[in-house]
Amino acid sequence: MGERTGQSNQEEQSEERVFAPSYLWEFRCNGSACGSHCCRDWRIPVDTAAWERLARLPSKDRKAVFSKLVEKEDTGWETKHEENGACSFLGADGLCCLQTTYGEAYLPDICDSYPRVSYRFGDFIERSLAMTCPVAARLALLPDSPMRFEERTVPARRASSLTHPPMEALLIREKLRALQLQMIAILQDRTRPLRLRFLHLGRFLAVLEARYGNRLPDAEVLAACAENIKPAAETRRRGPSYTRLRYMGELMAALYEAEENYTPGRLNELAACLSECETESEKLLHSIHGHILENLAVNELFLRLYPFSCAGGFLANFKLFVLRFRAAEFPLLLKASSKNTQLDVETVLLLLGRIMEKLDHNRTAGELLKRRAAEDFDEMEADEIMSFL
Ligand code: SF4
Repeated sequence: MGERTGQSNQEEQSEERVFAPSYLWEFRCNGSACGSHCCRDWRIPVDTAAWERLARLPSKDRKAVFSKLVEKEDTGWETKHEENGACSFLGADGLCCLQTTYGEAYLPDICDSYPRVSYRFGDFIERSLAMTCPVAARLALLPDSPMRFEERTVPARRASSLTHPPMEALLIREKLRALQLQMIAILQDRTRPLRLRFLHLGRFLAVLEARYGNRLPDAEVLAACAENIKPAAETRRRGPSYTRLRYMGELMAALYEAEENYTPGRLNELAACLSECETESEKLLHSIHGHILENLAVNELFLRLYPFSCAGGFLANFKLFVLRFRAAEFPLLLKASSKNTQLDVETVLLLLGRIMEKLDHNRTAGELLKRRAAEDFDEMEADEIMSFL
């Protein structure tokens, strides 16, 4: 597909204020760089407005276009796929025929917006990119310097591609940015290992929730509060844990719906084998690819609007955030430990892309993780969660 910067004919707007990570402005969809990744094997729903635009095409074109669409009983219209998994509109040149023939305005909302995730907060929008897009992932994750955020006024995108933020986030929209920037500052404190930064974030959110509820203070008070509860640099390092590794192995098996390959015996073997080298593998992984993992954490935090990503309050959101991150990191640790070697950047990106696809595009996996985060860590405080995970 080509770059999708269009908006529907009916929704011409001039400009919008967008707060986003700086890498967003450099993103250009490039199907030849990613093998048109998002146009293969994924369900591509056709929203009602796009369906109506296509239905108004001249009859000859309409017939050709609708021969590539299918109506599913429970989910509505979507594009057909070729035997090789490619969307039926994907041309041999890697470009979308709908876009090249009729223009961006004829794309379904999902194709117009992906990999962007945009939330409207009244007069401004927060936007970032999903890490399932390989081109976006390279832009966001590979820079060695900490991810920066800025607001720009830019030409407006299609309004129907915007997502409504959760009400709790909307209610504090004037204070939201200060909270997000403070959480990001904690995650980007490179004087400490990433695990301690997560612990700091968990404590910070727990204190905010207990002290202020949803009446958040201003940026200076947030900064002072974060400073006061910084974990000591010498906080004891978590050692290898057979229980944790078995838990993570079992979680991955459940996420990949591959329980039959992960019998209790096999999980025990895996955990025993990993616990011998986990600490070293983790240290090595973070010493070389720590910036990638930090960027992933920061991007996820912003993209999913933590601490408003799930119901249940700030601490519940922290649990989900940590579990998702650990689920993304675990395949890297597994690979590094089993090969007893350091991973190259391409392998890291490939493994992260795979798990993010699983978590983002498979509703069952996403729901499973939410349920596990809520149930398995029900009574735990941030310190307990971080010493287990
Ligand atoms: S995966 Fe990303 S770069 Fe590739 S076609 Fe999709 S949006 Fe474009």
